[in-house]
Amino acid sequence: MQQHYPFTLEPLPYDYGALEPFIDEKTMHIHHDRHLKTYVDNLNAALKDQPEYQSWSLEKLLKSANWLPEELRTPVKNNGGGVYNHEFYFSIMSGARETEPSAELSERLTRDFGGLDGFKSQFKKAALSVFGSGYAWLAVDGDGKLIIKTTANQDTLLTLGLCPIALIDVWEHAYYLKHYNVRADYIDDWFNVLDWNKVSSLFGSCL
Ligand code: MN
Repeated sequence: MQQHYPFTLEPLPYDYGALEPFIDEKTMHIHHDRHLKTYVDNLNAALKDQPEYQSWSLEKLLKSANWLPEELRTPVKNNGGGVYNHEFYFSIMSGARETEPSAELSERLTRDFGGLDGFKSQFKKAALSVFGSGYAWLAVDGDGKLIIKTTANQDTLLTLGLCPIALIDVWEHAYYLKHYNVRADYIDDWFNVLDWNKVSSLFGSCL
């Protein structure tokens, strides 16, 4: 993402109802229009009086978060991370149905997880294991191996030398209106809207 200050609320890349019946329209409205907007607004507020950093991209800010002036560190990690993670999350879902991993990604899923079903079961287990709020990620490591990672709050993988290709938001605001407290059902539904075409294209750009 090439955005820098002032950061803007990018529209969803599809209709709010596009992920129905798996993720409901109302959740998408609140998640995008309120939660993501708040992260964007708070990130801008943090950078308002920091002209030195206003030309920095979001990725640069996040990668350097620990070296920023102290008053910027937490706001950038929380709100910058919130912007980055949500844009990523919204971008790898779509209303396209029954998409499939590319041949190359499919081979890696077999090598590293025993296949698509093996991946889904390990990914679901990881996403369920996030205590409180956070994310589960599928990423490519420095050796080209697919790995599953979890992060807390709005942390990203940007400082870990990993190339992320998918993530699921398991903050309760991502699913509570439809799935209540049953995160497992949300994860099962989410697999239906995960767009493997996009994930495969990201995978290609990680290699
Ligand atoms: Mn969220």
